[in-house]
Amino acid sequence: MADSFDVAILGSGPGGYVAAIRAGQFGLTTAIIEKDARLGGTCLHRGCIPTKALLYTAELFHRVQNAAAFGIDVGSAVVDWNAAQKHKQKVVDKNAGGVDFLMKKNKVTVIKGFGKLLGKGKIEIKGADGAVKIIEAKNIILATGSVVSTLPSISIDNERILSSDSILTLPVIPKSLVVLGAGAVGTEFASIFNQVGSKVTLIEFLPRVLPLEDEDVSAELKKQLVRQKIDVLTSTTFESVTRTKGGVQVKAKGSDGKEIIIEAEYFLSAVGRKPVTEGIGLEVTNIKRNPKGAITVDPMMRTTEPNVYAIGDITTYPMLAHCASAMGTLAAEDIAGKNPRPINIDRVPNATYCYPEVASVGLTEKRARERGFDVKVGTFPFSAVGKAAISDEGIGFVKIVSDKKYDEVLGVHLVGPHATELLAEACVGLQLETTTEELGRTIHAHPTLSEAIHEAAEVTLGHPIHI
Ligand code: FAD
Repeated sequence: MADSFDVAILGSGPGGYVAAIRAGQFGLTTAIIEKDARLGGTCLHRGCIPTKALLYTAELFHRVQNAAAFGIDVGSAVVDWNAAQKHKQKVVDKNAGGVDFLMKKNKVTVIKGFGKLLGKGKIEIKGADGAVKIIEAKNIILATGSVVSTLPSISIDNERILSSDSILTLPVIPKSLVVLGAGAVGTEFASIFNQVGSKVTLIEFLPRVLPLEDEDVSAELKKQLVRQKIDVLTSTTFESVTRTKGGVQVKAKGSDGKEIIIEAEYFLSAVGRKPVTEGIGLEVTNIKRNPKGAITVDPMMRTTEPNVYAIGDITTYPMLAHCASAMGTLAAEDIAGKNPRPINIDRVPNATYCYPEVASVGLTEKRARERGFDVKVGTFPFSAVGKAAISDEGIGFVKIVSDKKYDEVLGVHLVGPHATELLAEACVGLQLETTTEELGRTIHAHPTLSEAIHEAAEVTLGHPIHI
């Protein structure tokens, strides 16, 4: 007799493990299947957490180098990259232990091995030792996530031509690094290595960095990256990367059609990710996918196969950890018959931890206009915020996009110090359908960076105090 569960979840990333916890909380018998040695997925082992640990080291080094201006003499600081890597691993291990604990706490059965759908609620799991086990589940949640994808012209060798996976374990700080792709992953690695002393070139095919963000934010970020001496080549077409004796040679074409040749020690391909849908038995189901292979789901995360759900990076939703978790919660709640509310994609926040940070929620100015809103905009610079001056971080701004008719806030866009933390206020605001007047009337503590949000609302209303 195969083991039988109410819910079986394939993949233990922030989608899968959160779905398992929520299902466990409802008293559903739940199994989670994971092929990797540890639970936690891309986010914990190759994504959000390790990158932010290295970013913390990089930013701390940057601060320590400037400590004299704040009255602290630390002599000349050096980065111990080996120790930085150990710190990163310690954080990852601690969090992985936390996920293990939460599985136990919520009575989730953890099954290690590669899972594959057999149809009719059956899943085959092949362990690392080759042993095969079959389980049955009334409901299945697919949460196999995504993996690195690159251009056909790039052969990632994980020695000099790296992916976002292999760059994380680089044993040395590169003297020079070319990063292809100025999305969130590319700009974060560009910031890490620039701050610890590499000469960084960032190449982007589109005319701006972080192309999905508001155009003003992209322009400000590019300005700040250039100020930090990163070579930012937008509107540049990548042609090739080849190994040389000392590293790599990268060829590209600038917007003026001129050939660009860059010699560097390392190359990072940060051009995207693809959903993991191969080898998991989708062919025995009627599950529909879009042309890029991502699974399409209804607002309750149901696929086109009865009792099979899909969540996270494997779907057409944004490839973000918090989105995967929200989808996991929703799927578990639907299975438990709790009638959950669908996710509003417009309210999924974006956070990029480059320096300075970028964060946004809601519509960009352009998208709001495209949707037919009569738009008003209020922008307030961090240079006019007292708290930012204290840490000498008066760079960037807050931009609020709102609707003239009802004054509703449609989008909040930040580039500047601690932008990713400040965003939470905007997320709550949009969730509660707030207006700029309500934001302007909300008393913000002084001195805080959040005063920039208050003042941006006041700009929209035509009466800011500090500019
Ligand atoms: P994943 O986290 O990819 O987990 C899927 C799991 O399924 C994996 O553990 C995999 O081993 C397992 N699996 C796959 N196939 C099988 C199988 N057949 N059987 C058993 N197990 C299987 N997002 C953010 O929100 N914030 C960030 O700061 C951020 N930073 C990032 C930085 C980098 C460098 C990268 C690459 C990504 C980052 N992301 C970030 C994106 C985030 O990591 C993903 O959106 C998130 O991990 C998706 O979660 P998931 O549960 O869908 O899948």
